[in-house]
Amino acid sequence: MTTPAGAGAPTCPRHPDRVSYVRCQRCERPACPECQRPAPVGVLCVDCLNEAKAQARPVRSRLGFTMTAGPRS
Ligand SMILES: [Zn+2]
Ligand SMILES: [Zn+2]
Repeated sequence: MTTPAGAGAPTCPRHPDRVSYVRCQRCERPACPECQRPAPVGVLCVDCLNEAKAQARPVRSRLGFTMTAGPRS
C-alpha cells in the first residue's frame, strides 16, 4: 500500500493529490471538498451518493446498452 501524498495524510480516492480530512459518512473514505456531497446523515462522497440514488430507485438503469466487440467504423 502506498499513499500518493505520503505522510499518512488522507487523500481523496478520486483526487489522490488532494489531502482531505473530511470522511464520507458511509464508506469512511476521505472526500475532498469537490467530492463532498451534503446529505441528511452528514457528508457523502460522490460514489456513495450515486449508490444511494440507485438504491432509492427500484429500477436501476445504468447504460442501457452493452458494448459489442465489433469492427471499428
Ligand atoms: Zn462514500
Ligand atoms: Zn476528490
